[in-house]
Amino acid sequence: MEWETVIGLEIHTQLATKSKIFSGASTAYGAAPNTQACAVDLGLPGVLPVLNEEAVHKAVIFGMAIEAEISHYSVFARKNYFYPDLPKGYQISQMELPIVGPGHLDIEVDGVSKRIGITRAHLEEDAGKSLHEDFHGLTGVDLNRAGTPLLEIVSEPHMRSAKEAVAYMRKLHELVRYLDICDGNMQEGSFRCDANVSVRPKGQKEFGTRAEIKNINSFKFVEKAINHEIERQIELIETGGKVVQETRLYDSVKDETRSMRSKEEANDYRYFPDPDLLPVFISEDYKQQVKAQLPELPQAKKYRFNEQYALDDENANILTSSRQLADYFETVLKESGCEAKLCANWITGELSAALNKARLEIMESPVSHERLAGLLARISDNTISGKIAKQVFEEMWRSPATADEIIAERGLKQITDTGAIEAIIDKIIADNPGQVEQYRSGKDKVFGFFVGQVMKEMQGKANPGEVNKMLQAKLKQ
Ligand code: ADP
Ligand code: MG
Repeated sequence: MEWETVIGLEIHTQLATKSKIFSGASTAYGAAPNTQACAVDLGLPGVLPVLNEEAVHKAVIFGMAIEAEISHYSVFARKNYFYPDLPKGYQISQMELPIVGPGHLDIEVDGVSKRIGITRAHLEEDAGKSLHEDFHGLTGVDLNRAGTPLLEIVSEPHMRSAKEAVAYMRKLHELVRYLDICDGNMQEGSFRCDANVSVRPKGQKEFGTRAEIKNINSFKFVEKAINHEIERQIELIETGGKVVQETRLYDSVKDETRSMRSKEEANDYRYFPDPDLLPVFISEDYKQQVKAQLPELPQAKKYRFNEQYALDDENANILTSSRQLADYFETVLKESGCEAKLCANWITGELSAALNKARLEIMESPVSHERLAGLLARISDNTISGKIAKQVFEEMWRSPATADEIIAERGLKQITDTGAIEAIIDKIIADNPGQVEQYRSGKDKVFGFFVGQVMKEMQGKANPGEVNKMLQAKLKQ
């Protein structure tokens, strides 16, 4: 039988606010355990939560960016459950009236565009963390994370393959970073995904029973976990079994999903409006203000790069994958005065490769935009060839020197003195009568040999176009 996969994602994004959603404690990552949890986060008696306006602001920014309906009136609710890392015995979340209503995000898979619906996005507080290592049979609880603002973004079950799910997740990741509402750091848990997966016979209208795979924190694992889960469900059904609705955990070491617990229903959580918090009212004016301040979004930037700079899709895609990279490109372009294509190729080629290798982000690049612009300007005005430029770049990566300083110091300036090139060509022709004979009898391939010899003799500093032209003329004589 042919099966169709149905996937919906719930993504928790940590909003990049300085303090927590209902208290003044810091949200900075990595502090010593329990040094950033105040009385409110600890759930001590008599404390009251106060809503952090910045968390609301960031949620509205997100809502406007996905063209969602923003609720004029939204309400916080208590989601009750017991867990050691949840001192109040409930999590403050939103249930019936979330701040962000239906919106959408467009993804592209294999050149085909598809619109994925976003059902809702709601504000909530994160829980603390249980620590099992270092405690010899005991569990430690770190409440630094308790109360960190989260925006949970729930998609419609619109995805039909692991690939589409990953494309959606990447698109969302790119967007929240563009909007500067989340740092997107997946290792630190700032962007985590729960994947709901079901299968149904192709053509069937009703959805199959889904399993929810919890807490997948990398793009690679999302794809693997989903594909693994699809296989498991199909095999189960084909051998006469039934998928049960449950929460499963993905084990990246064994590459398998394991049952964690049977799925709770919403009514198990006894949701009710939190009496300690006032409803949130969002005015039309406020929405319009936020909209006016939205940055250029990834899609729009990509189209503009295509149009304005005549870049191909691949370069435009890479360069607009982060706002910082796009800004870097546009700055280099302006500062160097070079062609867009040269700038794009260097940034997506040499520079990106070096950054990847060193595991650095563009903001951390040892080669600043000014210095790269300086290098590209020297390629453009023929001071150095592209090949020599790669050597200069390597040196720039290691030292703070400018391209001009390196070129001068190492004598890398391209030789434009045609007399000097001519002398070397004459010498090589004289030294290699056999190859000259071959070339003249029609073996065109030998031409490369001559170019190679001349370039070697000139340590790569001759202008290759000039060398070709002169060699051709000389060999014909
Ligand atoms: P819950 O509140 O139990 O988490 P929701 O109805 O909010 O359930 O759905 C959670 C996610 O599961 C959403 O992203 C939704 O698109 C997805 N989903 C719902 N039904 C299915 C299904 N049959 N197969 C795959 N995904 C589903
Ligand atoms: Mg859910």
